[in-house]
Amino acid sequence: MSAAQDRQFRPLPVPSVDVSGFWGDWQDAVCDHTAATLLDRCVEARMLEQIDIGVPSPGVVIPFIGWLGSAQMFWDSDLGKSIETIAYSLYRKPNPELEARADAIIDLYEKLQEPDGYLNSFFQRIKPEWKWTNLRDFHELYCAGHMIEGAVAYYQATGKRKFLDIMCRMADHLVARFGKGPGQVPGYCGHEEIELALVRLARVTGEQKYMDLAKFFIDERGQKPNFFIEEAIREGRNTKSAQHDTLGYNQSHLPVREQKKVVGHAVRAMYLYSGMADIATEYNDDSLTDALEILWDDLTGKQMYVTGGIGPAASNEGFTDYYDLPNDTAYAETCASVGLVFWANRMLGRGPDRRYADIMEQALYNGAIAGLSRDGKTFFYENPLESTGKHHRWTWHTCPCCPPNIARLVASIGSYMYGVAKDEVAVHLYGESTARLELGNGAKVTLSQQTQYPWDGAIGLTLGVDQPTQFALSLRIPAWAKGATLAVNGQSIDLGAITEKGYARVERLWSPGDVVALDLPLVPRALRANGKVRQDAGRVAVMRGPLVYCLEGTDNPVGLNSILLSDGLGRSETAVIADLNRAIAIDLPVLREVIASDELYTEQTPDIVADTARLVPYHLWDNRAPGDMLVWLRAQRG
Ligand SMILES: [Zn+2]
Repeated sequence: MSAAQDRQFRPLPVPSVDVSGFWGDWQDAVCDHTAATLLDRCVEARMLEQIDIGVPSPGVVIPFIGWLGSAQMFWDSDLGKSIETIAYSLYRKPNPELEARADAIIDLYEKLQEPDGYLNSFFQRIKPEWKWTNLRDFHELYCAGHMIEGAVAYYQATGKRKFLDIMCRMADHLVARFGKGPGQVPGYCGHEEIELALVRLARVTGEQKYMDLAKFFIDERGQKPNFFIEEAIREGRNTKSAQHDTLGYNQSHLPVREQKKVVGHAVRAMYLYSGMADIATEYNDDSLTDALEILWDDLTGKQMYVTGGIGPAASNEGFTDYYDLPNDTAYAETCASVGLVFWANRMLGRGPDRRYADIMEQALYNGAIAGLSRDGKTFFYENPLESTGKHHRWTWHTCPCCPPNIARLVASIGSYMYGVAKDEVAVHLYGESTARLELGNGAKVTLSQQTQYPWDGAIGLTLGVDQPTQFALSLRIPAWAKGATLAVNGQSIDLGAITEKGYARVERLWSPGDVVALDLPLVPRALRANGKVRQDAGRVAVMRGPLVYCLEGTDNPVGLNSILLSDGLGRSETAVIADLNRAIAIDLPVLREVIASDELYTEQTPDIVADTARLVPYHLWDNRAPGDMLVWLRAQRG
């Protein structure tokens, strides 16, 4: 085994981590409300009629818009993600009623599946004549991917194989259909997702053919001649329609290893890079890793909001130009930040590196979790960084991709917290939890975190081992954690001497009950944007630990753009917000501009008065009285 293979880190299965504290509260919201809500809304949308061969087809429920098609085309993906969410929720809270509802849907899919394994309710029940005619626009493989992910999760949660077997038959159908052999189709999907799903299926079944098909889809993407152009010509379609005149919309403009700029539809890009990172890990493929590192720097260095939101434009649900990050019109789809978490997590497969894990945390705690209300009942699709008070959470959407996406991420968060290799455990995320893990060398370890993180930066880790065991414990020291300290069994350790790529690597013979104390100082800090981000000129964003903070009108009924941050951050105080699940607010002295005139324009200069302002975590905005919101505060140099 090569050194590189020694450094293959894999996430823990969801049931191996019991989460409480901050994430436990969010998971309870998903278990108690979101999981059932997702199914209720799928039923209301008439999705079950589409998969139930015992009732008449509902026909076209959501009208088609040109070649863009209809959100009805990917109803199977909504059901797949909903079943995945339910599966994770069952780990935490057994719920026979919810499980029975999921079983009933799985039974319907079993009856719907064709003898050759094909399964897609839209192309079987609504538009059979369109089956396999348009990989570019029709989301056929995308739906299979989400159904596979749901099937893997449901099998792991319940031990029931039926859904997994159904999706293995579909995957076998795909293995036969796609490839370079005689009679096979050298294609791939316009909306990436099947790639990462097949990796998950291969890992749970041990079937190499699924892994190889995922690799095939990635290797083929963007090769010449371009499959989507050939397909359009063959089917008599305009070669440019429905993809915004560019192959970059679905990242098929170049072979993936030659791509250097993050372009196109944001969610598609994130799912592609996630699949590429998985294949890089599984095949030790440094040519993929090299491409991904360039793409990572391109995204996080020039195209990402401070919230970890990505894809500023609604027109292509995606990327525009470098440093184009408008705040009030930010699209920043919840799914895109969820996808960034997926990608970042998979970049850790080649070893701990905080340049990925810090961004994973930033996207998770801000751009992603903002998409779910505190009670788990309502959702954001777009996540602007400024609002005049008209942007609110909704109960459903004709394109309901975001709710189950954030729900499944929250419900499976335990698997994002750790990476496990042969003789090393990396802790990527902190949060009250207990993990049961097995190292690649067979040693069993229990790792408990005691912490109020992210409200408090003190983290205690207790190790459980059957007998003294040699391995490395790698702890992420976030780049923002200036003055972090570490102690093992009360003995302080020089972080500088053992920190590599932002992880403190403590390698020793661990004994039962060993205790690690990590302290990450949570000092509010003001960030400025690159001068090329014109929308943020003269403004600062306040962060505390991984959390981006914002002003809300309900706390600051004065006109948020009249508030000027001067030197008040150093004199700020924290306060517990009782009606936001005891979240930490930041109260700070500020200046405020007051103009006496109410004319539209005036020559008067404003008076500057002293005031105080309250900042709350961005992800919790619009959970109380509706109103305006602002992340980038005006700054007064002083
Ligand atoms: Zn979405």
